[in-house]
Amino acid sequence: MTTLHEPAVPSTSVELSVWPASTAEPRPGDLAVGGVPLAEIADRFGTPVYVLDESEVRDRCRTYRHAFPDAEVLYAAKAFLCRAMVHWMDEEGLGLDVCSAGELELAVTTGFPPERMVLHGNAKSPRDLETALRLGVGRIVIDSPSEIARLAAAVGPGGHQRVMVRVVPGISAGGHEKIRTGMDDQKFGLSISDGYAQHAITRILDQPQLELTGLHCHLGSQITSVKPYLAAVRRMVGLMARLREQHGLVLPELDLGGGHGIAYRPGEEALDLTMLARRVRTELAEACAAARLPVPRLIIEPGRAIAGPAGIALYHVLAVKRTGDQLFVAVDGGMSDNPRPALYGVRYAPRLIGRHSTADPARVTVVGRHCEAGDILAADVELPGDVRPGDRLAVPVAGAYHLSMASGYNLVGRPPVAAVRDGHARLLVRRESLDDIRSRDVGL
Ligand SMILES: *Cc1c(COP(=O)(O)O)cnc(C)c1O
Repeated sequence: MTTLHEPAVPSTSVELSVWPASTAEPRPGDLAVGGVPLAEIADRFGTPVYVLDESEVRDRCRTYRHAFPDAEVLYAAKAFLCRAMVHWMDEEGLGLDVCSAGELELAVTTGFPPERMVLHGNAKSPRDLETALRLGVGRIVIDSPSEIARLAAAVGPGGHQRVMVRVVPGISAGGHEKIRTGMDDQKFGLSISDGYAQHAITRILDQPQLELTGLHCHLGSQITSVKPYLAAVRRMVGLMARLREQHGLVLPELDLGGGHGIAYRPGEEALDLTMLARRVRTELAEACAAARLPVPRLIIEPGRAIAGPAGIALYHVLAVKRTGDQLFVAVDGGMSDNPRPALYGVRYAPRLIGRHSTADPARVTVVGRHCEAGDILAADVELPGDVRPGDRLAVPVAGAYHLSMASGYNLVGRPPVAAVRDGHARLLVRRESLDDIRSRDVGL
């Protein structure tokens, strides 16, 4: 593949609506992101490879800062984290939401200020808590009653730690049953309706070394409507009002979590962040006025909406075959780098890159290389009818919950991550090699 650094015409076509804003088609069939042709990246770094458009990540951070100027915006690291992401979040003025000692250490050793981090988790390990206290994490979100005494003991009688409480507001929202966390009967948080949240708060107030700064809730993920967030504001302010009555407590912060939905395929709906910001602000002001509470400082924790649309997965086609009435296009990655279709049945819109095809489109199922019939990347999608082994495919909206959930299945090694910006591509995370795999395997 030759280099194509011609001035690119930004494409505005509907099919590219879910691609990064920098996406262009310098020549028919050839897509470039961040000024770099994707086929060139596939050839330089090998496939599968994940591409992150740095400007798209930064622009999304800025959109949040602009829409929520008074709020604290924390990037949910679990969507995807590497040192470059940590660095970009720091530069863009975001905080970090982490849920393990690993995420915490990676961020802090990259230079991220620990006080701008919040530690979550329904089952924090002793190491998670020890690391959080040692590194001086800003806030720890308490998720179960047993954690209170454990944390207080770890902090020690002379110590001090700011905490929040994860509350279950009793609201059902989110793109799939497995990513709904706002109702009772799922593992996260403490319920308002059965009084567990209130009880936990009483116990936190009994611990002088724990300073309760606010309530937290996270309704779920891939939410495309503003309504559940407004309902959450009302429930949370309701609880805040009761806490003031019972304890004279006025909490300065309210964390509404993340979950902001994005479009994975052209025509799908995304959550409107400007509208979310405006309506949440109004709802919060009104609910607080009615309860005669001061308006708390808002915290939000987007993950998917920052990383997702900035990432693209690139694959090579290894096999094309017809079985029954299905035309299968098999690529060199799959459920080990993207478990989302198998987990939640999500749909993607892959595209042929690196060559112009005039063939009529065919309905195909793009599958991975792994030893499971459920290893399907994209069922029933259109690709040019002459798609063949050696072709390269690009899957947009691949930046969140792909590599962060990648597994070692079939020992294929996890793919590398390259960043693109201003016509240059650079490696952020290298490919996991057989040597990496072998070196962990120490027994016999
Ligand atoms: C996963 C998670 C987020 C981010 O969710 P997205 O859907 O990626 O925005 C935020 N807060 C908490 C507590 C989470 O568990």
